[in-house]
Amino acid sequence: MPRENPTLDVQERVLEIEGETAFAYLAVARKLAQEGRRVISFGIGQPDFPTPLHIREAAKKALDEGFTGYTETAGIPELREAIAWYLNSRYGADVSPDEVIATTGAKTAIFLGMALYLRPGDEVIIPDPSYYAYAQVAKLFGAKPVYVPMRFEPGLGFRFDIEAIERAVNERTRMIVINNPHNPTGSVFPPEQVETIHEIARRRGIIILADEIYDNFLYTDKPFKSTLSLPDWRDNLVYVNGFSKTFSMTGWRLGYVVLRSEVIPKALDLAVTIYSCPPSIAQKAGVAALKGDWGPVREMVDEFRRRARILHDILSQAEGIEPYLPEGAFYMFPRVAGLLKKTGLNVEQLAEKLLYNYGVLVLPGTSFPENVGREHVRLSFATATSDVKEGAEIIVRASRELSRG
Ligand code: PMP
Repeated sequence: MPRENPTLDVQERVLEIEGETAFAYLAVARKLAQEGRRVISFGIGQPDFPTPLHIREAAKKALDEGFTGYTETAGIPELREAIAWYLNSRYGADVSPDEVIATTGAKTAIFLGMALYLRPGDEVIIPDPSYYAYAQVAKLFGAKPVYVPMRFEPGLGFRFDIEAIERAVNERTRMIVINNPHNPTGSVFPPEQVETIHEIARRRGIIILADEIYDNFLYTDKPFKSTLSLPDWRDNLVYVNGFSKTFSMTGWRLGYVVLRSEVIPKALDLAVTIYSCPPSIAQKAGVAALKGDWGPVREMVDEFRRRARILHDILSQAEGIEPYLPEGAFYMFPRVAGLLKKTGLNVEQLAEKLLYNYGVLVLPGTSFPENVGREHVRLSFATATSDVKEGAEIIVRASRELSRG
């Protein structure tokens, strides 16, 4: 039967998609700032450093030379080569440029990886808490997100619960997501955990979607195990990474996915249909980023390491908040159960109080589905060091005042 307003009849799977809370809160913070209120933001995961100069210069040169047309869908050859070179020199992998597709950010890399493999009825194991996007894309293709809670170890942070992951695997399991270093917890998982999950997945014929976009944000001497350094990674890996975080290039929209060469043609059919190619000048900038001076990246990471410590040390004085020292990425996901109990607030109400009454933006853990986040908030310390200090001090004061009621 024809509908009166067919254009309002959005299909069910799309209706199930949730947007990114971090973007919604960013909009609120911007609005408050426009109204003249000062907001210290621990919200969005976006480095506050400028894109390094030599990268910007490369983009300007490309622009001036008229490099402004469509490129190869997979990205210009020199960029695919630079990406393969980076991964191979860093992880001792043997990635060929033919196995790399440059994308419009890591988000489209995740999208392509999931679109290639997920069928209706498939299950995708997602450790909880997690970056929100994996579940949304899975749902779009009719697959079911299966959340497996991580273990919170006070003073240490989060670890995978390997036994629980193993128990969650069944004949419908098609994919396991490993995001390492981890958003929202700032954990860097022990190499044995990565190896064991890979082992389980191989044994059961399951694909690993590894999102290693924070691979340069490491704050301890503990080893980081990239899935690309597993000897037989090609058997079952979809590898995602990007330029947004490492080179402070969030707005340039450049990421990449590594896939088996056999499926690259189909992935490119999909990519060309969705976005044709990544931005041309961002690609030239990407080559300069990987092949140029990494000094600015090191300086930024050193500064982030100091911030992690500052945030940890100040929050240790808060009431009902259990901080820990983040090992990577640029997030802390402290448990706030004590504060919730004392105040009778839920985590969303707590975030609202902090924003409107104290001018400090944190994200409620519920933005990182599904259950674990109900007792946590996420703090991004990709924000000026002076703000990290001041914001953390305000949270300490707020925790005392709110506890008193
Ligand atoms: N993966 C993770 C784990 C992220 O945190 C983000 C950004 N917040 C992305 C992917 C998306 O990155 P991009 O800007 O490259 O699309």
